[in-house]
Amino acid sequence: MAGQLNLVLLGKQGAGKGTQSTRLAERFQLAHISTGDILRAAVKAGSPLGLEVKAVMDAGGLVSDELVIRLVEERYQAPDAARGGLLDGFPRTLAQAEALEALLGENGVKLCVNLEVPIDLVTQRLSSRRVCQNCGTNYRDSDESAISGVCAKCGGHVVQRSDDRPEAIRQRLEFYERDTEPLLDFYAARGLLVSVNGDQSPDEVTSDIVAAMHERGLA
Ligand code: ADP
Ligand code: ZN
Repeated sequence: MAGQLNLVLLGKQGAGKGTQSTRLAERFQLAHISTGDILRAAVKAGSPLGLEVKAVMDAGGLVSDELVIRLVEERYQAPDAARGGLLDGFPRTLAQAEALEALLGENGVKLCVNLEVPIDLVTQRLSSRRVCQNCGTNYRDSDESAISGVCAKCGGHVVQRSDDRPEAIRQRLEFYERDTEPLLDFYAARGLLVSVNGDQSPDEVTSDIVAAMHERGLA
């Protein structure tokens, strides 16, 4: 289906990729494809895949390219991905970006949004982040749901992600710089890169992304 809309969101951990992907996927009826969410679900379910990746994830390391590429391939088989996908946390390495090109074929990636946020701010956001284990909603440590530990949306358990602790945060940001930042050049060279200021309210960020999509006839 050549009409597929596939968007890649790049940006450091804590830049707001998850929040924006969820909103955009809903608005444009695309699949929200988050390899982090898929992997966390596997860990939570205690499946063989989950057991394999848990230690790597807890330490803030990267799961093998081969494995995440396979997960994304599978995810694209689901009916909600027929119109395309909002890619969040994938690709994260050049090998993954190349595999995605091969996988999408003539559909391709239509736009890559770089969510720019200063390093101090992401570190602060990550350390105060709490998440619902059940529905994945993010909270701040000062939010009522975080304090009570009960998700306002679904009643699930609100916890700190095991990789949102200082040592794992540092590791993830290091991997981002080393492995993922080169993807900015990869997408810029294809004329697909647009940068958006992620240090704004979620609504402002969404409207900047949608404006960039408009400019390219994607929305
Ligand atoms: P963050 O971007 O905040 O680190 P994610 O939810 O995207 O969070 O990913 C959580 C963890 O899952 C990563 O630290 C890594 O261990 C693993 N992971 C997710 N996506 C990938 C990927 N594309 N390649 C390798 N590992 C991944
Ligand atoms: Zn919840």
